[in-house]
Amino acid sequence: MVAIAVAALVWPRVPARVQREPGLDVLLITIDTLRADALGCYGNTSVETPWIDRLAAGGVRFDQVHAQNVVTLPSHANILSGRYPLEHGVRDNSGFRFPAGVETLATILKRAGYATGAFVSAFPLDSRFGLDRGFDVYDDRLGDPEARAAFLMPERAGPRTVEEARKWRAAQGTARTFTWIHLYEPHFPYVPPEPFASRYAASPYHGEVAYTDSLLGPVLEPLLRAGKDGRTLVVLTSDHGEGLGEHGEKTHGIFAYDTTLGVPLVLYAPRLFEPRAPRERVRHVDILPTVLDALGLEVPKDATGRSLLALASGRGAAPAPSYFEALSSSVNRGWAPLTGLARDRFKYIDLPIPELYDLEADPHETKNIAATETRTLEEIRAQLARLRDADHGIARGQEDGETRERLRSLGYASATAPAKARYTEEDDPKRLIGLDTAIQDVVTLYQGGDVEAALARVKEVLVQRPDMPLALGHLAYLQRQSGDLAGAVATLKRAIALNPEDTDTAALLGAYLNESGRAREAAAVLAVYAERKDPDLDVLMARGAALAQIDRTQEAIATFDRALAIDPSNAVAKANLGTVSLGIRDYARARALLEESLALDPDVSLAHNALGVIAAETGHPDEAIAHWKRAVELNPREWDTLFNLGKLLRRQGREAEARPYIDRFIETAPPALYADDIRSLRTSLHR
Ligand SMILES: [Zn+2]
Repeated sequence: MVAIAVAALVWPRVPARVQREPGLDVLLITIDTLRADALGCYGNTSVETPWIDRLAAGGVRFDQVHAQNVVTLPSHANILSGRYPLEHGVRDNSGFRFPAGVETLATILKRAGYATGAFVSAFPLDSRFGLDRGFDVYDDRLGDPEARAAFLMPERAGPRTVEEARKWRAAQGTARTFTWIHLYEPHFPYVPPEPFASRYAASPYHGEVAYTDSLLGPVLEPLLRAGKDGRTLVVLTSDHGEGLGEHGEKTHGIFAYDTTLGVPLVLYAPRLFEPRAPRERVRHVDILPTVLDALGLEVPKDATGRSLLALASGRGAAPAPSYFEALSSSVNRGWAPLTGLARDRFKYIDLPIPELYDLEADPHETKNIAATETRTLEEIRAQLARLRDADHGIARGQEDGETRERLRSLGYASATAPAKARYTEEDDPKRLIGLDTAIQDVVTLYQGGDVEAALARVKEVLVQRPDMPLALGHLAYLQRQSGDLAGAVATLKRAIALNPEDTDTAALLGAYLNESGRAREAAAVLAVYAERKDPDLDVLMARGAALAQIDRTQEAIATFDRALAIDPSNAVAKANLGTVSLGIRDYARARALLEESLALDPDVSLAHNALGVIAAETGHPDEAIAHWKRAVELNPREWDTLFNLGKLLRRQGREAEARPYIDRFIETAPPALYADDIRSLRTSLHR
């Protein structure tokens, strides 16, 4: 009775009836790296976001929304599953896979008879990480992964993603649909096209936001026009915000201030909701229960999130505490792990230097009241500790000890350093954020073409913090770029010793060893990771390539088959399998696989390369030349192909056409591997 009385005090009007409607289509739009306050409908007066503003004006715009994570993959796992990362276990962008046993919006709606399609725009959402379950179509075609620098994620341009999603929706006829569109534009680097580049020259991030809004016009316009006749429930949110320099954080992933933890959330379905802007804080994990509830479907009993339908319909509800975390810097840099809890008006951040903010009095989190509000702090801390009791830990992959032991047996002696058991103030990200800026400098210098300066900068970072795997990864990448492949391998060995569970680094080490002609060593190191129950896809790809190089062909084929079992539409795995088949002269199988690869993704350099080999060997030089030209255009490191292309063009009497490829080979191929070829080509040029 008391609760009812309180609710009546807060909500004197007769509350609106909660509406539900089975069978509505669902459109989930997630815009990467979008701060709520970058949108017009959240009060920004200098950015033009007319489409999202209209959606918000006609729907329910939640004023205070917290993500649970500040990086892409875990955040989307929270949105799609309605569960905390503590439960589904995905804590960072790499090294984790969404567990097969956990239900998502896609698996539930699929079972309810929906056609389900996902259209994502960046590598952290690649199907290999497990969010594809339940989707009929999971379109993650992002282009050639060889283009994936250590620094930047492969991404697909928004217009293409939107177009593919619209085509798919249109093809579903009268079927009920669940469509997920993920757009990546606002993510760093900020390079909006014109006219947004000029219009937002002072703040290109906001230019990207305005551009992204414009991309949504064709999707949202018909829904807005339909009004109450529309039969689509739209959910628009972002996975996390962006620091933009506040609290010393330029991008996102380190801290969990509301600059990055705060996200927009709009529900639009005029048949269900009157326009409203509830002020109560809500969470990403509430999205799944809300959508299911709105469709009249059963919400899983043990769901962490809860339906926002009452709130969206104008009834009050006490806000639930909101768990959050930012663990990337702990996993990748060895810094102290950040977890926290927002409760009522307070937000507690659990770090060696604890932080407590009163979000009502101090929404920008500038006054840490941890030292004065000790009672509140202790209460929330205890509540957080109870939540964390259910945590299965943040270790990636399997038992650390076993991996270390096996690495040591391979001569990676230093791989015995134990993981840090205790973090001090020296490990607090607040003390270390300056290094994050330095790491950003490294990326900027590299992108500006100054590899030497980038190298110098990353070495400075490592002087300050020698045990930072992320910086070691950057150093290795730059060493390879500057031609020092042996140095790059040595650096990655240091990184893997610090962090044996980092499968990304293991895969990269394997790839660099392969490139150095040390495939035997690569196969041995990668065996540690490949023989697991749930191996990483890139580990399998690098190990397959190593095995193929040392003529363990059947094992190579089995390894690539495992990769394809994880990700059946992986164009590069198919190209690898085709290349191995070519190696054992199984031309029919090779050609079939390579053509399948290019049908999945026409930009896989490896497939063009191998198809060129088949064409050359079967007497079709023009076809070979066309494939090889494409291969070296897509991947400048295809030195064998450069060499073969130059030679073939010459043999065809096309000397002038051959010359640029031959020059490029002489200038860029690593002498350690191609000394003889470089010498013979030089000699031939002087003849
Ligand atoms: Zn993201």
